[in-house]
Amino acid sequence: MTKMRFSKRLDSIPPYLFAEIDRKIAAKQAEGVDVISFGVGDPDIATPGPVVDTLCDMSRKPEHHRYPSYFGLREFREAAAGWFERRFGVALDPETEILPLIGSKEGVAHVAIAVLDPGDYALVPEPSYPVYRMGTLLAGATPHFLPLAAGNGFLPDLEAVPTEVLSSSKLLWLNYPNNPTGAVADEGFFTRAIEFAREHDLVLAHDNAYSEITYDGFVAPSVLQLEGASDLAVEFHSLSKTFNMTGFRIGFVCGNAGVIEALGTVKTNIDSGIFNPIQLAGITALDRMQETVSEMREIYRSRREMLVRGFRGLGWDVTPPKGSIYIWMPVPDGFDSVGFSTHVLERAGVFFTPGNAYGPSGEGFVRISLTVSNDRIEEALSRLGEVN
Ligand SMILES: *Cc1c(COP(=O)(O)O)cnc(C)c1O
Repeated sequence: MTKMRFSKRLDSIPPYLFAEIDRKIAAKQAEGVDVISFGVGDPDIATPGPVVDTLCDMSRKPEHHRYPSYFGLREFREAAAGWFERRFGVALDPETEILPLIGSKEGVAHVAIAVLDPGDYALVPEPSYPVYRMGTLLAGATPHFLPLAAGNGFLPDLEAVPTEVLSSSKLLWLNYPNNPTGAVADEGFFTRAIEFAREHDLVLAHDNAYSEITYDGFVAPSVLQLEGASDLAVEFHSLSKTFNMTGFRIGFVCGNAGVIEALGTVKTNIDSGIFNPIQLAGITALDRMQETVSEMREIYRSRREMLVRGFRGLGWDVTPPKGSIYIWMPVPDGFDSVGFSTHVLERAGVFFTPGNAYGPSGEGFVRISLTVSNDRIEEALSRLGEVN
């Protein structure tokens, strides 16, 4: 037998925290408990009918069964540019400033390979979507964590980054509306982040996956709306949450042409583009589905109200999120994140994700996803009321 050896890079990847969580949920289900999970960040609302119809119709055409273009259909890039201009008032060149992605996760991971070398730092907020950190590690570079604290509105304190880290840093990650904290950032924050990135020669990468999911009248900006952003920033957009298309795998990155060209070079050597009918379905979504976006927002808003009211009734201290599909709740006194998550699972068959799964500063919180129907929310609240 040969002795297989794997890359050192993989040794830097921490064990998958959700494996243990999945095991606990599965064990409860094996006991016959009907677990109500607020764990997944995967919309339960159906993909709009016309989007599915486009995929089905276009899939029958033989011309779409061959390799797609590396850089995406020109029509998709134009539809993305059109949506972006209508939504943010920013004109993008579909040729050089937009690149379609196989879901934004793919681009978020691969941009690290385009920007970072071993020995470089990426500035990574935490708690956060795990891919900023994992992409950095897989590129052989080192994440430097920027803690997000409630006292600072879950915005990073950029001035606190040590000078010696900054001198080897090349990439700054941001994500607002934020997963998992539900926090939002205004134009003033993005303006400061652009100045900071310019001062320290950083690429600013903003993940705007939840741009369309905000509440209480807040409209999320794009970093590209701000002066000077196109010199150094790219922004990742996803059709996954905006149009309930997580299974389709489609998104795009836009902004600085140099970063987009570099990412394009990585991608042409790794993947071979996106099935054309998926891109055409994406065009249907971007061009015609604005109304379903408002309906979706209203569904999440009403679930948010139900849960916040219910949790407050249980005596739990909770602030309604301004954006995203998550409630980020401090755990009650006497618990840590895992302890509280285990407690509600054991006692009520309800699952909340422990906050420390998203980074050390997530300790003391749980993440509660709004992707659960109203009657399951009611059932969960009533069970929690019985055991609280
Ligand atoms: C869901 C999510 C994404 C979207 O990923 P896709 O690959 O486009 O499905 C990106 N960033 C964050 C923070 C997310 O929560």
